[in-house]
Amino acid sequence: MVLTFPHMGQMYIPAKAFFEEMGIETIPPPPVTKRTLELGTKYSPEFVCLPFKINLGNYIESIEKGADTIVITGSCGPCRFGLYGIVQVEILRELGYDVDILVLDPPREDYSKLMENLKKIGEGKDFKTVSRAARKAAPIVISCDKLYELAVYKRARERIKGDTDKILNEFERTVYNTHGADKITELLKLYSRKLKEIPEKEEYTPIYIGLVGEIYTLIEPYVNLDIERKLGLLGVHVSRNMKVDWWVRTHLLPDIPLRIKEKIILHRGRQYLGMCIGGHARQTIAHSINYAKEGYDGIIQVMPFACMPEVVAQSILPSVSRDKDIPIMTFTVDEITGDAGYNTRLEAFVETIKQRKIKA
Ligand code: SF4
Repeated sequence: MVLTFPHMGQMYIPAKAFFEEMGIETIPPPPVTKRTLELGTKYSPEFVCLPFKINLGNYIESIEKGADTIVITGSCGPCRFGLYGIVQVEILRELGYDVDILVLDPPREDYSKLMENLKKIGEGKDFKTVSRAARKAAPIVISCDKLYELAVYKRARERIKGDTDKILNEFERTVYNTHGADKITELLKLYSRKLKEIPEKEEYTPIYIGLVGEIYTLIEPYVNLDIERKLGLLGVHVSRNMKVDWWVRTHLLPDIPLRIKEKIILHRGRQYLGMCIGGHARQTIAHSINYAKEGYDGIIQVMPFACMPEVVAQSILPSVSRDKDIPIMTFTVDEITGDAGYNTRLEAFVETIKQRKIKA
């Protein structure tokens, strides 16, 4: 069995560490490129959502490198994500690829099913091996998100534009060829130190923007046209409510304090959207309110074209913007979204916020 999984921002780093610790041959998906998108778009149903297309392109590229088994996480609720695996495996088989897709559903409160599925992936590996691999990979999820948070902080404040990205790009090139949880952990520490050393501007007036929206679009830079980096280079400190460690800790690990915090945030959005309608629409609304409460200067919702839950959230956000007195803008991305118009809208939004702050 040669495993692969979707490329989702930096998620491939802990996933790779986890499977390598289990002793399973793994081919991490190559970074998403134009070719990934073209392959996915060519073989996907036309109106399916963008993450489906990118994932499919990812799988084809990994299969070309030798992968024969795809691992994805599952989903529940009224959203297309729950059908991804079933439809994608049919498409791949029709294309002549002999592959399997294994779906890891979030365990809710029952971990036995998850362990059973992991053992299946590990081809009969015992509980000790699986749990040891999980214990070693779990901190990488957190350190990885911390490294990228540090990059967000530094990028907005760096004295020489581009310093942060130079280090981050070097990290990404190196980690791809670094194997095993221990070595990856060391690398994360090394690059965290390098980022901390970046000299900062002497004068910096922070602009804080919260990013909300569909999880895949928020996490995968290729899909969101590198919004975090672009805003950072405009001097914006960005915070994103959807992170890999948030997902792992709320869905896979019994992180009680985080779950309580998340429940409180969701409760705040209840009067606008009080139920799960699939995807993370409820989180989009609730975290927007939370960002307003925390004093953020603006919010950007990022969503793929035709994402059903986020379209509903988009229709509610103008009320949140009015009630909480915070500028909110929506970016919809699809396979033909171009950089030029997107950049202009980002710059205009940041400028509006700056003017608002001056007047305040
Ligand atoms: S949340 Fe939106 S983009 Fe994601 S699978 Fe559901 S409909 Fe598609």
